[in-house]
Amino acid sequence: MQPTYTREAEEYREKVHAFLAEKLPADWHGLGRLEGDDIHAFVSEWRKTLHEAGYLAPGWPVVYGGGGLSALEQVIIAEEFAKAGVPTGGPNDVFGIQMLGNTLLLRGTDEQKAHYLPRILSGADTWCQGYSEPNAGSDLGNIGLRAVLDGDQWVLNGQKIWTSAGHLADHIFTLARTDPDAPKHKGISFLLVDMRQPGIEVRPIKMISGESEFNEIFYTDAVVPKDEVVGGVNNGWAVAMTLLGFERGESAATMPIRFQSELERLMRLAEERGLTRDPIIRQRLAWCHSKVQIMRYNGMRTLTQFLAGHHPGPDGAISKLYWSEYHRVVTELAVDILGADALVPIGRPPSSAFQTDDAGAPNSSASWVDTFLNARAGTIYAGSSQIQRNIIGEMVLGLPKEPRPA
Ligand SMILES: Cc1cc2nc3c(=O)[nH]c(=O)nc-3n(C[C@H](O)[C@H](O)[C@H](O)COP(=O)(O)OP(=O)(O)OC[C@H]3O[C@@H](n4cnc5c(N)ncnc54)[C@H](O)[C@@H]3O)c2cc1C
Repeated sequence: MQPTYTREAEEYREKVHAFLAEKLPADWHGLGRLEGDDIHAFVSEWRKTLHEAGYLAPGWPVVYGGGGLSALEQVIIAEEFAKAGVPTGGPNDVFGIQMLGNTLLLRGTDEQKAHYLPRILSGADTWCQGYSEPNAGSDLGNIGLRAVLDGDQWVLNGQKIWTSAGHLADHIFTLARTDPDAPKHKGISFLLVDMRQPGIEVRPIKMISGESEFNEIFYTDAVVPKDEVVGGVNNGWAVAMTLLGFERGESAATMPIRFQSELERLMRLAEERGLTRDPIIRQRLAWCHSKVQIMRYNGMRTLTQFLAGHHPGPDGAISKLYWSEYHRVVTELAVDILGADALVPIGRPPSSAFQTDDAGAPNSSASWVDTFLNARAGTIYAGSSQIQRNIIGEMVLGLPKEPRPA
């Protein structure tokens, strides 16, 4: 089966090709060909180009700075960008655009949309995600960050943890307990917090690699204006779940394109090392090929639902579970193909720690080893694989709920 798009969609693809041809250098072969500071410089200029063209948030209404494009046009843009090896935004846009912006469009007030959405796109505000706490990860409903209303502002005390890119952000969307007497999922509110205040302290967490990608965030009498609540006071759980649907399921249709090009690169690595005749390696590569195809068809299924106006909900867990478990296995295969060379990684490392290396990246051992080391994290962030299986069982398939402590 080969899925096809409508003629109108293919005509739109030509427009995207023309945009890419006009805006990219003539000798462009993908972000993976750039190194060091050139990567950051390109991404920040490219983000401005996308913003001017309405491509930074192609589906958002034009009034908020988006492109006002249809769901199918958005997928075509994402597909062509993935093939060309250009990013769809900057490093914090996954939090600002994909997660918060999409959630505000569904659940924010008109004032919140008018204020925040254009600022997210212009880069005036940079966001991070404040969900997890030391005692609330998989059991997110257990959050303890307290918000108490004092006059016309909330006063926050407590802690968040694992806040990715929190040191690069100036705003955090955060879950706080606003009614400690209500059942645990009912007393939570979703707050929009300006981090530029003395009551907020960001402490980077040092990883075994020596780098710091995520942080602890401490709130000591931090303040938030009363109206900066999304979806109503004590209704934060529903808002949090809307956002997780976008976090887990939004890229189901386009992510397999990046996995396909990553797998083709792995096949070239196997060829270079004379391993394509090894029956075990061949079998493992074939397994990976079949998984990428399944993801592609699942992506098409998601796209069909998206076109019918359905936003990702609990079913986002299907693609999250599938891609993250696949990615663990394909990167293990890469390390096996590298053999002893994986012990002394050399060459260009990936520009981003998350998911695949950029299109056009060389087959360096550093590229594959870094991606391998990060692949396990994919099975944890945005909810662990065990939790995704629970969600699929209970909320998608309607199986009996797992036993819970009294
Ligand atoms: C790279 C990375 C980036 C992250 N970025 C952010 C961020 O920006 N913002 C943010 O808020 N959080 C972030 N997180 C945190 C992430 O959401 C949590 O790590 C995740 O939800 C798991 O929670 P936990 O670490 O507390 O593990 P726990 O909840 O303590 O789980 C430990 C183990 O027990 C299993 N388990 C727990 N409950 C069940 C159950 N009911 N049934 C079966 N198994 C279960 C889990 O699957 C896991 O294997 C990030 C995490 C990582 C790894």
